[in-house]
Amino acid sequence: MTELPEEAYDVLVIGGGIAGMEAAIDLGDMGFKVALVEKEPTIGGKMLLLSKVFPTLDCASCISGTKTSTVSHHPNIRLLTYSEVAGIERVDSGFVARVTEKPRYVDASLCTSCGECEDACPIIVPNEFDFGLRGRKAIYIPFDTAVPKNAVLDLDNCIYCMQCERVCPADAINFLQVPKAHTLRVKAIILAVGFKLFQAEKKKDYHYGEYPNVLTSMQMDRVVAPTRPYNAVIRPSDGKEPQNVGYVLCTGSRDRTVGNPRCSQVCCMYSMKQAQLIMGSLPTADITLYYMDIRAYGKGFEEFYRQSRDMGVKFVRGKVGKIEQKPDSNLTVYYEDTEGSGGMRKADHDLMVLSVGLLPNTEVAGLFKNVKLDLDEIGWIRIMNETRSSVQTNIDGVFAAGCATGPKDIPDSVLEAGAAASQCAAYIRGASASITAHEVPAGI
Ligand SMILES: Cc1cc2nc3c(=O)[nH]c(=O)nc-3n(C[C@H](O)[C@H](O)[C@H](O)COP(=O)(O)OP(=O)(O)OC[C@H]3O[C@@H](n4cnc5c(N)ncnc54)[C@H](O)[C@@H]3O)c2cc1C
Repeated sequence: MTELPEEAYDVLVIGGGIAGMEAAIDLGDMGFKVALVEKEPTIGGKMLLLSKVFPTLDCASCISGTKTSTVSHHPNIRLLTYSEVAGIERVDSGFVARVTEKPRYVDASLCTSCGECEDACPIIVPNEFDFGLRGRKAIYIPFDTAVPKNAVLDLDNCIYCMQCERVCPADAINFLQVPKAHTLRVKAIILAVGFKLFQAEKKKDYHYGEYPNVLTSMQMDRVVAPTRPYNAVIRPSDGKEPQNVGYVLCTGSRDRTVGNPRCSQVCCMYSMKQAQLIMGSLPTADITLYYMDIRAYGKGFEEFYRQSRDMGVKFVRGKVGKIEQKPDSNLTVYYEDTEGSGGMRKADHDLMVLSVGLLPNTEVAGLFKNVKLDLDEIGWIRIMNETRSSVQTNIDGVFAAGCATGPKDIPDSVLEAGAAASQCAAYIRGASASITAHEVPAGI
């Protein structure tokens, strides 16, 4: 481990998704010095991986692409990717955070992202950015619009054949790199650590991971994205275009059996979005959404719902009990009809999508060493007094934004990021004003 000299910033932003990027840019534009720490090799969070965004159907990677680029070029933002916060301590004047930057085994200052190392690497493993829908090499550039766009070598899967080193025209491969330990002294912190996806395997009767034609909604968002893994909407078992797609809404949300009674707020809308996008690619396909209630609460959402109905998306109010696979890999869905005459029903589909819920990223609480961060009963970061501030945690000087505090859509995440940035700015200015007032000798 290489220990680097301590660096001082006004604010530490943890998490480089849309909320963290937005907060960092706002603060940087106000003149504050910001350190933005992201644990993945690239910034952008989940939004960068999405297809389009409801209800406008704007391209997600185009919108977030301008943010990733601003963050990486902003004079007031120090970006640390592939970096984990090892611990945060409260000290008199603010906080000291220890951050470990993982080695990429590629010299980022030399890498031109030409991709020759990727081509030469013989190892293929599932690509986490496409949620396993295609492979990546052991040395890889995460995706085409990645920021920073440098190769990263995943040593766990490397067989040390040295092909990458041999072909790299920039001599950028460096197996001797070691982790770097950064010490960051900051006045305030914004937690923008986002959410985790519900692990669909936990709904055992849906057989995700076992039946090839049962996908998650995150996988389907990748399938219909401009940066998609395949050039068409196809089903995994045989590469054929599906003609009858079913969605199970509330997979892992509003479900006490998996410990998550809360609504995930975005699943109804993103399922309708995906249904509309699939219809664009497969105009003759039937799409059915199995739902408990449709929660279309935001601006333009009700209209989007009506538009989905008008386009021919079928809405079935029913609770899906189980999915069974037939010998031809088609699927039968058994559901309780909670509308109309009621009772158990079944229907056939050739592809099923599980609209997975959003769960808290509880590891954030463990980052604090000598102060305790309060989480709510489910594990989201607790906001102290929602009627006064939507971003103030129980720790003075620590704010939270985006899905770190609960499930929400992108506009609300951006709104909270702006609020966190402005309250953070006020906090820093207030703190330095009171220090200055204190330091003025009596009588002057
Ligand atoms: C399938 C699906 C489709 C969706 N479609 C839409 C849509 O069309 N429109 C819409 O408005 N919303 C949509 N959403 C919701 C949208 O994804 C969220 O609103 C948005 O991603 C929230 O951004 P965020 O920055 O809060 O969190 P995230 O996107 O989760 O980003 C958090 C970031 O923090 C990083 N991080 C986490 N922990 C640490 C740590 N300890 N240290 C450093 N970094 C850390 C993560 O790696 C990540 O980069 C969709 C969600 C899903 C699941």
